[in-house]
Amino acid sequence: MQQNYDVVILGGGLAGLTLSLQLKNAKPDISILVLERRESEAATAAHKVGESTVELGTHYLREVLDLKGYLETHELPKHGLRFFFPSKTKEDITSRVELGPRFRLPVPSHQVDRGTLENHLLKLSREKGNEILLGSKVSNVEILPESLHEISFIKDGEEQKVNCKWIADASGRASILKRKLQFQKPMEHHSNAVWWRLKGVIDVDTWTDKKDWQSFLEPGLRYLSTVHFMDTGYWLWVIPLGSKNTSIGIVADPAVHPFETFNTYDKAVEWMKVNEPLPYKMLEPLGQGDGLMDFKILKHYAHHSNKLYSKDRWGVTGESGAFLDPLYSPGTDFIAMNNSWLSDLILRDLGSEDIEIRASVFEQSHLALVDSWIPVYQNKYLLMGNTQIMVIKIFWDWATYWAVPAHLFANKAFVNLRILKDLFAKEDFLGRKFGRLNNIMQDLFLEWLPFEKETFSNRYIDPFDLAFLRKFQEEIEVQRAPAELIEQIAINMNMLEQIAVAIFRKVSTQVNGTAVDIKVNPYTINLGKKENVVVLDTESEAAISPGDMITKDVDVMWFYPEKEMETA
Ligand SMILES: Cc1cc2nc3c(=O)[nH]c(=O)nc-3n(C[C@H](O)[C@H](O)[C@H](O)COP(=O)(O)OP(=O)(O)OC[C@H]3O[C@@H](n4cnc5c(N)ncnc54)[C@H](O)[C@@H]3O)c2cc1C
Repeated sequence: MQQNYDVVILGGGLAGLTLSLQLKNAKPDISILVLERRESEAATAAHKVGESTVELGTHYLREVLDLKGYLETHELPKHGLRFFFPSKTKEDITSRVELGPRFRLPVPSHQVDRGTLENHLLKLSREKGNEILLGSKVSNVEILPESLHEISFIKDGEEQKVNCKWIADASGRASILKRKLQFQKPMEHHSNAVWWRLKGVIDVDTWTDKKDWQSFLEPGLRYLSTVHFMDTGYWLWVIPLGSKNTSIGIVADPAVHPFETFNTYDKAVEWMKVNEPLPYKMLEPLGQGDGLMDFKILKHYAHHSNKLYSKDRWGVTGESGAFLDPLYSPGTDFIAMNNSWLSDLILRDLGSEDIEIRASVFEQSHLALVDSWIPVYQNKYLLMGNTQIMVIKIFWDWATYWAVPAHLFANKAFVNLRILKDLFAKEDFLGRKFGRLNNIMQDLFLEWLPFEKETFSNRYIDPFDLAFLRKFQEEIEVQRAPAELIEQIAINMNMLEQIAVAIFRKVSTQVNGTAVDIKVNPYTINLGKKENVVVLDTESEAAISPGDMITKDVDVMWFYPEKEMETA
């Protein structure tokens, strides 16, 4: 071990190890020390949570870090996110409305065993020349902007010190820098989670004898999905692991399901018996004896941050910064963006570039992204028992995610100051409008809830039956020059505005009896059921009608039979 390093990374979990690789790949002569508290190899299966990747994070692992070969050989391919909504007979899986892709997906994602993955990343990082010290607990950090920072850590009972130009805090929930420099920020999204791993393969395809239901998908595809069983206030996950074990978790809003009702293994089993009788019947026997590999709990998992990157040569990444919600498996996405911003700053600074403006723009962009994502989850667990609202919400959430952030990330746009300026510099620029439109739609879903009561059953809905979803997903990784990328984001935003209007027209007809073909300014969408809302604009030039393709797609996600509806 040397005394001085370019970068010391606090914590060798997913964020810290991937950052060490990203930096080393970009600058082979960089000196990096990773200090990790864990004493030895990570356990298979029963290590950490965060096993399902989605498109943005997958692009990072496969393309930016070049882990495609490893992922295809040692981890499982994933067949999308899959949802089972409540029916009147939850015991029969075939009666529940099922949402998920039917056919193999064009853009890849993976189910990862976090222990296997972290062991591989650690080995690879060492092979590339990074120093990684296990059994090393960081005990203090002195930020010294005018000289080298000083890190103290305990190894084998002895305190040691090293110095470095850059500190990257990747210590997860220990959040070493956030605690030391006090930049915690309150987060108004409160949900809790528990999870456990069971030995063996669990395939929900076998949870019925109905052959026609089973054969509706190619064998194995349901197994490879991240399966969500959902009802008011909660979702329960089933995730297959490459080590032939299975991850199970319950995530719930305490307003509906108090944490005390499922925060031990025995209580979680009882909770399933009441709320999810079929998973209870299938999983309870597997958890007996040594079938249960672990059981973990996390109260109020969402947290926020006021700071992320500093010109004083430090930054935070992964869960030591902000974390929102695991519903759509976005943890690795945030690590991907976070590490890309932080690496860009570190590499430019080591190349003697002034990073003050970049650090500030990246921090604002990152915090704005987190803020614009909060409404996707906040209070939304209350919608989870309502199939019609959730189907539309999930499709809307995927459309926005694929059309804008995922496409921007795959085109390295988040580290391009020119693109960030073109998207976010002014209130009416595309990036800001994107955040506003998403907020408006998330409010609409909540406003709609008291009026939408139907329980649906026996249906299958495939996101890729919708042309716009298929197009957004297929184009995530298409590479574009900066000007063309901005043009494409403008096209995607225009489609999102049309989708918003098409959804609103359906909901407003149902709730307020408005004509099915009214024009609407998407930035005024609301049902008029709350106080002090903007007046719905159906007449100005900003009021639009969706095109035929969008209208047809929105008809696919509308479960009610077409009534004779009034036109304007
Ligand atoms: C319920 C739940 C479900 C989730 N599901 C998903 C999912 O499906 N997909 C997804 O992408 N993400 C998911 N996530 C998010 C995912 O778990 C995190 O994004 C990810 O684990 C964060 O990685 P990290 O490296 O920041 O933190 P960690 O993996 O926690 O790593 C931090 C490391 O720092 C070390 N450390 C801590 N303190 C010190 C110290 N003082 N000195 C030295 N080392 C230290 C720790 O030992 C640890 O190894 C989920 C999160 C939750 C809460």
